[in-house]
Amino acid sequence: MAGIVVVGAGVAGLVCAWRLQRAGHEVQVLEQSADPGGRLRAVAHGDRRIQTGAGFFTDGQRNVLSVAGTLGLGDAVVHLEPEGSVPGRVLYAGRFEPCSFAPGFGALRSAVLAPGARLRMGRLSAELFRHRDRLDPVQPERAARLEDGEDMPRYLARLLGDAARERLVSPFVSTLLGCEPEDVGAAFFLLSMRSLAQGAAPVSFEGGLSRLAEALSDAVRVRTGCEVFSVETERTGARVRYRSRGRERSFLADAVVMAVPGPVVPQLCNTLTSDERIFFDSVRYAPGIQVDVLLPTRPGGLAFGNCIPREAGTGLRSIFATHRDPGAGPAGTGHLTVHLAESAVVRLGRAKDEEIIGFTLDALAKTPVGLLPSYEAVVHRWPYARPVFPLGALSRLENFDVRIGRSPRLAFAGDYLIGPTVEGALTSGMQAASRVVQSLDDTGLGAIRSHLVHSWTA
Ligand SMILES: Cc1cc2nc3c(=O)[nH]c(=O)nc-3n(C[C@H](O)[C@H](O)[C@H](O)COP(=O)(O)OP(=O)(O)OC[C@H]3O[C@@H](n4cnc5c(N)ncnc54)[C@H](O)[C@@H]3O)c2cc1C
Repeated sequence: MAGIVVVGAGVAGLVCAWRLQRAGHEVQVLEQSADPGGRLRAVAHGDRRIQTGAGFFTDGQRNVLSVAGTLGLGDAVVHLEPEGSVPGRVLYAGRFEPCSFAPGFGALRSAVLAPGARLRMGRLSAELFRHRDRLDPVQPERAARLEDGEDMPRYLARLLGDAARERLVSPFVSTLLGCEPEDVGAAFFLLSMRSLAQGAAPVSFEGGLSRLAEALSDAVRVRTGCEVFSVETERTGARVRYRSRGRERSFLADAVVMAVPGPVVPQLCNTLTSDERIFFDSVRYAPGIQVDVLLPTRPGGLAFGNCIPREAGTGLRSIFATHRDPGAGPAGTGHLTVHLAESAVVRLGRAKDEEIIGFTLDALAKTPVGLLPSYEAVVHRWPYARPVFPLGALSRLENFDVRIGRSPRLAFAGDYLIGPTVEGALTSGMQAASRVVQSLDDTGLGAIRSHLVHSWTA
């Protein structure tokens, strides 16, 4: 049994700790916030439950489903759209139209495109088939060879034409990945489509997706309020220093898993190799602002996921009808989760909440949601909302994966390694746990330390 420290209690860190614990190791998770969950967390607001980050996954995301099943959440899965319907809507000509382009979702029926443009949508399925051997959503680096100098907008313009790009595909992908179209490389776009082809129906757990993080954090030892400020690894062990209740403390562990957003890693790890530093310097996240609008009644005729093209000029990226989760609030009440487009996030990043709420309500009035006379609203800001995978990101991931210069006793987990979703983060946590177990077994270190050595440095 080895003593392992996981830094960060987001879903990546929690699932990693859970797997290591199940493999028989002693694991501590250190989390700076007062609560675990990271970007997968709920807060109570009166009789409502607000998901401050991730709100749904898709029924093709098998790792989330499998972990949830083992944790006893299988029966809590709720479909947020009627089964068999298209996976979302897109704003077009003042209405939310079915967003039917993902493979298997009847692109030929799309009202958003002229017949010629609809026919061209078949090319997307052909591309997915052509590259199927390289498109594995849980091993994105395998698609690095498909990076051929094009970002998603250029690729889509060439493959499908401008109308499909602007009205349909780009708004959908921006909503799904939480970034601007230019921040998606063509190969990463294909990976995301491949993932949707496995199942695109939006699902959650009754009471919110955060139930996954809650169930995981119940199963492992999480110490909250512990801000890690230094991690030093060497061949014989790893020293983790952190602040808790105004005091500096440290752990000596057999291995450390860094499960914090990518750009935070080099700020904490002093002993990274140059290969690792080069990679982490290239990792970038898009910032995000989410506004939850709580209503006394439900706006009529609104599907769960509604994407807004940039060209519509609202400054919004998406509107989710969160009230479709029966656990989100009292029966009959409305709950919209609104994400701002990056241009608005940059402009309003430092604005007061009231200004952001005013902006959001004005923008909603320009959509089929219309004017909302009575509401409450809550704002959440994320400096590191979603990692982006622009052109070149997959090649950098591939280089990182096969790097020669590797810090001993150190592993990494987080959505920036797989994809900007709960499935991506969770998968990276599972993979990090396997790597740690493997490396402890390889070096015969599994049995060295039977408990974590806890020492006081101040
Ligand atoms: C607004 C928003 C909406 C989203 N919507 C969706 C969605 O609908 N579906 C979906 O699949 N995904 C969605 N995502 C993405 C998803 O939430 C993330 O990909 C996933 O939760 C990331 O998990 P993680 O463990 O990699 O990182 P995080 O959740 O960020 O966890 C990292 C943890 O490390 C902690 N930490 C950082 N620094 C330190 C330190 N020095 N010491 C100790 N602890 C530290 C942080 O406090 C945090 O708890 C959304 C994200 C945002 C922000």
